[in-house]
This record gives sequence, C-alpha cells and structure tokens, in this order.
Amino acid sequence: MTRLARHYNRKHADPDFAGLVRTYFHSLKAWALDDIIRGAERILETSRRFPLVAEWNDTIADARRAVAPLDARQMGITEIAEHERAYALHYTDHPCLCVECVRAGVDHLPIRFVPLDDESAFNPKAGRRVPVGYWLHGDGLKRWYAARDRFLESAGRVLGLEPARVLVAVGASREPGEDD
Ligand SMILES: [Zn+2]
Repeated sequence: MTRLARHYNRKHADPDFAGLVRTYFHSLKAWALDDIIRGAERILETSRRFPLVAEWNDTIADARRAVAPLDARQMGITEIAEHERAYALHYTDHPCLCVECVRAGVDHLPIRFVPLDDESAFNPKAGRRVPVGYWLHGDGLKRWYAARDRFLESAGRVLGLEPARVLVAVGASREPGEDD
C-alpha cells in the first residue's frame, strides 16, 4: 500500500488516505496477504495510476485464474459448509490449542482462514468457481501474523500511528472492551 502510494505520488498527509486504507483493507481482506502483495506488484508493473479497489481485486483474481487448472473439481457439502462458516466468522476463529499452534507459539492468537495457493474449485451452490480456503495453524499462522504486522507497520507510517492503532483507526477492529 505504501509502495503503491509512493509510486503514484499520493500525499501521505492526505486525510482521505485513512479512508483509502480502510476501504482497501475491508475489500481485500478476504484474500491472502501474499495475493494482495502479488497483485500490487502486478499493478506497479502495468498501471499508470493508483488502482481502484475493484481493479486490484480483478488483478488478484486474474493472477489466480492464470494458475488455476482448467477442469475444476466440485466442492463437497462439508467443504462448502466450512467455507460458509469461515465467511460468517469473517475468516477468523478462536485461538487453537493444537500441537502445531502451541509449538509455533500462536495458541493465544485467533486462527485465520485463507485461500490455498493455486487452488480453486466449483461451488455448485454458488454456481461458480471459488478460491479454496483452509484454516491456518502453527507456522503458517505465525507467518500470516508476521505479514499482517508488516502491513500494519507500513500503513501506520503512512497514517502516523502506532501499528497497533491502525486497525482501530480505520474501523476494521475495536480495542478490547469497546462496545459494538
Ligand atoms: Zn491449531
């Protein structure tokens, strides 16, 4: 985000920038951070102006489609139910106490549901092909939080905030104890 902003010469002091970060964060959080970064790199290579959220989304989806196999397998009922549950939970669930999560030291952090690299499947209920997701545990979850921290740090620099305050400031998260 910071790199994109610099690239397109946007003023970091721009009060609209907080809104922009919020919009991007909400629109793109369904994607894995790697995909967002990959999409950003593609835009840097190909686009002459700051991308709209929809363009960014399309670029990420294109990048996925380009590597997806032509014949899609069909998702099972259990798999569809799990994807629907993950969606309803906003792709996050309670911390997990499995061996992997304990060993990686992330058993105090909410687990995250992310799309699998290079895999999509036909969802007969939705009538379309969708990215296949899974719950991150252990080292994978640890890497996800490290990537998120890097994102918050760069967004924090842009907004002039502590990283921990960024999600609160853009309305994507609340401080513990705050009401709905
Ligand atoms: Zn676990």
